[in-house]
Parts: sequence; structure tokens; C-alpha cells
Amino acid sequence: MSPTAMTKYALDQTRAQMQVCTIFFGKAPYDSVYITEQPNFNFGQSWPSLVYLPISAYIDSTQRWMLFGQINTKFNGFVQEVTPHEVAHQWFGHGVGWASYHDLWLSEGFAEFSAGLFLQQAVGKKWEKDYIDFWERQRVRILEKNNFGVSPNDAGPLWLGLRLNSPRSAQAYQGDTYSKGAYVLLMLRSLMYADHGPADNRDQAFIDMMHDFMESHHDSPASTESFKAIAEKHMTKQMDLQQNGRLDWFFNEWVYGTQVPRYSFKYELQPADGGKVKVHAELKQSEVDDHFAMFVPVFADFGNGMVRLGQMGVIGNSTRAVDFILDRQPKKVALNSYKDILER
Ligand SMILES: [Zn+2]
Repeated sequence: MSPTAMTKYALDQTRAQMQVCTIFFGKAPYDSVYITEQPNFNFGQSWPSLVYLPISAYIDSTQRWMLFGQINTKFNGFVQEVTPHEVAHQWFGHGVGWASYHDLWLSEGFAEFSAGLFLQQAVGKKWEKDYIDFWERQRVRILEKNNFGVSPNDAGPLWLGLRLNSPRSAQAYQGDTYSKGAYVLLMLRSLMYADHGPADNRDQAFIDMMHDFMESHHDSPASTESFKAIAEKHMTKQMDLQQNGRLDWFFNEWVYGTQVPRYSFKYELQPADGGKVKVHAELKQSEVDDHFAMFVPVFADFGNGMVRLGQMGVIGNSTRAVDFILDRQPKKVALNSYKDILER
């Protein structure tokens, strides 16, 4: 564990995250970023062009195991998230500020989303487990009830930010502003994802939205509504549910509301014309009001990892059936395999 090697690890992670963020969000707001360690084990902080990392962020997973053995997964999660989260604050927080406490999720939630993006984009072939574990941790942070029976999500809408904290909901700000804020951006990415078309730009609508968000907030801090206006500019046709060019339905559900759906999914495979295979899929949504709308992605495994087939739209407490025609027999079909949509 030489200091040089430790520094190299932290620097490699920082460089990789700078590249990921540049692709997805646009040019970095500063020409260079310095990183330095500070002795607190559980805390990082980002300043304009300077990132304080906890000393724990300088040791890789093997070294962590040598030092601590089977340490708890929460700490492991923190160490995985802290460097990419803090580096992303160069964009969210410094490149674009926030208008009021209502809008802090545009900084903390987006930085947290970016930590997940790092685990997906910068880790190499074996990214899936860490990435899925990351979103499961976020889901738990949003929905796990405390000793009073109150989860952060129960405490109130994400938009209330710090005001969600009370003696009965001490983790609500953290769970909502960071984790649910990250989830809101992840869900937009999933809704905007192009299931068909060239394989190298399936995220193009999302990337365009984020570049636009950065560029249009150079001189003015972002608010929930100014972000919503950008999202409305870049939404897909399918997302325009009310055909009025607005995303009221999505923001009312996830930013100004507290509903979280429960899903159950089943499917049957049937032979179809021309040697193809028909997937008859049924999605049931429950524990929401009659107007709650969502699109949930469906995946198939042909023996080489999950491939996204498309999205199933559903409104209210109801069951929706959709048929997908495939060229060959899948080993398995599954809903929401990468935890793109927040569900109970
Ligand atoms: Zn942060």
C-alpha cells in the first residue's frame, strides 16, 4: 500500500469519471480538477476544481478486504460512490447551481445518479452486479422504514428537501434528495432510451437533455421547474402522455408526490409465424391511484446478458398485456432488470 499506488487509484477513478461526465453532461466547467485526501473516513466534499476525498477512497477493494475483512456493505457502497459522486459535483453544484432548498436534488441527486453511471460506464465488463447493487441500495434508502415506521419516502415529496427531516424521519432528507433525486433522473433516462435504432446512441435524447440543462443554466441556478422545462424539450413522443408537451404527470408523481408502485410480471412464450417467438407479457401495477402512469422496461436474456425489448406502459391499478415478437427463443424474460424504475 504505497502512497503512490493509492494516489494512482484515486486519480484513475477521477479521470474516468471526468470522461463519463463529459460525454453525458458536456464539457467540464473547469479546465482542471485537483483531488486531495482528508482524514475523515466517511466524508467527501467538492469545491470548484478541488475535490476532498476521504482516505477510504484511496484504497481499492482488495486493500479494503485486507484491512477490514468482511466489512459491512454499507461502507463498501459508500467507498464505491464517493469519488464519482464528488467529481460529478463539478457539473452539478458548481457548473450549475440550485435556486432554493427545493431544488437541491438537482445537485445531490444528479451527483448520486452520476455515481451509478460511473459504475455502469467505467468499470469494464463486470459492471452489472455493482451497478444493480448500487440501485438496490438507493431503493432501500428511499423505502426502508425506521423504528417509527417511517421511510424517507413516507416523510413527504422529494421537493420539500431539508424540511422532510424531523425527529421521526431523521434520514428523510438524505433518502429523498440524494437517492430519490438520483432515481428521478434514472427514470427519465429509461423513459428516453431508444429501444430501436443505432446501438451506439440509444441514450442520445437523454444526453441532449443533460447538455442542454448544463448550457442553459450557465448564468442562472436551476430550479425544479426550469429542469422540467428542459426535460419537456427533449422528451420522446411516448412521454407526452397528455399530448400537451408537458411532463406534469411524471413530476407530479415522482417529485411533488410520494406514490411508489408495486409491480408483478408474468409471461408466456408461444411459437409465431416464420419461426419467430411471441412473448405474451402481463404487467400488473398496484398501490397507486387511478391516474398513476408509468413505463417499465422489459428485458430478454438470449444467453449473453439482458437485452432491452421495450417499455410497457400502465396506468392506475391495472394489468396491461403486450406481445413482443422475437427472432429466437429467449432463456428468460424479465421486468426492470437493471432497476431503472423505482418500485416497491
Ligand atoms: Zn454531494
